[in-house]
Amino acid sequence: MPEGKYIIVTGGVLSGLGKGITTSSIGLLLKLQGYKVTAIKIDPYLNCDAGTMNPFQHGEVFVLEDGGEVDLDLGNYERFLDVNLSSDNNITTGKVYKSVIEKERRGDYLGKTVQIVPHITDEIREWIKRVAKNSGADICLVEIGGTVGDIESMPFLEAVRQLHREVGHENVVFLHTTLIPVIGVVGEQKTKPTQHSVKELRAIGIDPDIIIGRAKEPLDKNTKEKIALFCNVPVEGVISVPDVESIYEVPLLLERQGLTDFLMKRFRIEKRNGLKEWEDFVNKVKNAKERVKIGIVGKYTDLSDSYISIVEAFHHAGAHLGTKVEIKWVEAEDLENGDLSLLEELHGILVPGGFGMRGADGKINSIRYARENNIPFLGICFGFQLAVVEYGKNVLKLDCSSTEIEPETEHPIITILPEQKGIENMGGTMRLGAYRIKIKEGTLAHRLYGETEISERHRHRYEVNPEYISELEKNGLIFSGISSDKIRMEIAEIPSHRFFIASQFHPEFKSRPLHPAPLFYGFVKASLEKMKEATD
Ligand code: GLN
Repeated sequence: MPEGKYIIVTGGVLSGLGKGITTSSIGLLLKLQGYKVTAIKIDPYLNCDAGTMNPFQHGEVFVLEDGGEVDLDLGNYERFLDVNLSSDNNITTGKVYKSVIEKERRGDYLGKTVQIVPHITDEIREWIKRVAKNSGADICLVEIGGTVGDIESMPFLEAVRQLHREVGHENVVFLHTTLIPVIGVVGEQKTKPTQHSVKELRAIGIDPDIIIGRAKEPLDKNTKEKIALFCNVPVEGVISVPDVESIYEVPLLLERQGLTDFLMKRFRIEKRNGLKEWEDFVNKVKNAKERVKIGIVGKYTDLSDSYISIVEAFHHAGAHLGTKVEIKWVEAEDLENGDLSLLEELHGILVPGGFGMRGADGKINSIRYARENNIPFLGICFGFQLAVVEYGKNVLKLDCSSTEIEPETEHPIITILPEQKGIENMGGTMRLGAYRIKIKEGTLAHRLYGETEISERHRHRYEVNPEYISELEKNGLIFSGISSDKIRMEIAEIPSHRFFIASQFHPEFKSRPLHPAPLFYGFVKASLEKMKEATD
């Protein structure tokens, strides 16, 4: 294809309409046509990245290969498109202003008054084009976070308006996602909010080509026609996305309504392939018969978006094993009084990543419960560190802890990474991103990965204190994965247990629908076996 194409995704009426899933799904459809696709997420907040934000407010912090701490939508893009993205694929207001202000200080704009238009908008436009070009993609999706009309997103909308003018109409498609509320006893689908938000878009010079209407039920023919008329789009450009059981169905839904054909025509490119592999995967998700119950013992369990990659990793592993993973969210603090009845009937227990002392004792109690009752266990990052603390406390009988929880502990079995000691800035300073890990042969880790060297993503400041390794190993907790520079413990396991494994890295960030993460696959499989045993 001669020129790069862009699909700009905006949102109207309210946030939280699943724009990220829509963007990912469109990307997947184009990828299945044989085109190379990349995606950019724009977050109009002033933080430079998501790393300093509380998952409670903004959902999970997703970690990329290059160590970028980014919005969770990048996780959706990677999972749907099966690609690895870079930090540059997440643009924030903070990053844009930082770059422009640095240029101003350097003297790049000498003599000029530096302004939002054109300097900030130029920066955004150049950034989008650079990412698209460097990725080698035929088509670049750009999702603008927030809702049209927000003050914060104005410079970004202006920048994409300019981009449209610059690269030409045949190379840019605008897609607007909105909510279609249903009011009254007859359940009429109301289009007025959509009309208003499109009016707002058009006032700033953006004419959408496609409207995605989110509603509980599919949009009526009438509703589609009304939207087409009032919003100045062809009827084929009005696409309905009702609630579905699995997010992985959305691409099929869009395809059935002719979205791929519409885009091909609009971009004047050809339709090539089919959707077979994806359809097979969605069927596996939908037809899964068994239900295995797995507990996640965490701190932000009220908001499942805080652990979205873990939830998706379970869906991937479950689909390949023909089972639905039913997640039971367990608030760690509820396990601190010693009553562990919340863990009864679970077929597996997972302790995810986390920070700080709140809830740590409850997590340790759940690890002990899994270890002593031979229940499949997977620990991730903080969960790995606490598994080591639990072993130190209850098997080695040491009064030990992590210095993150108890800075003055007598036995700092988990301690700050040496290179972290002098660090004062909190943003982007953890051990981040992909590192290589050597796996010992003959271990559970080796059986799961089938390889002796792997690469996984990290996000931590603390690690296993080398002084305690030999004592732990002598007593049955084996370190089966070690960083390739041989300095850090990366995987711990208990060979005498049916399935007890924990990793310093985050396997969930690399799980993909068609390639589940090996640790999750093994964990769900072991939990299924446990379930079958319980029902026999
Ligand atoms: N708080 C721990 C650390 O900084 C674990 C981090 C995590 O679980 N992502 O090392």
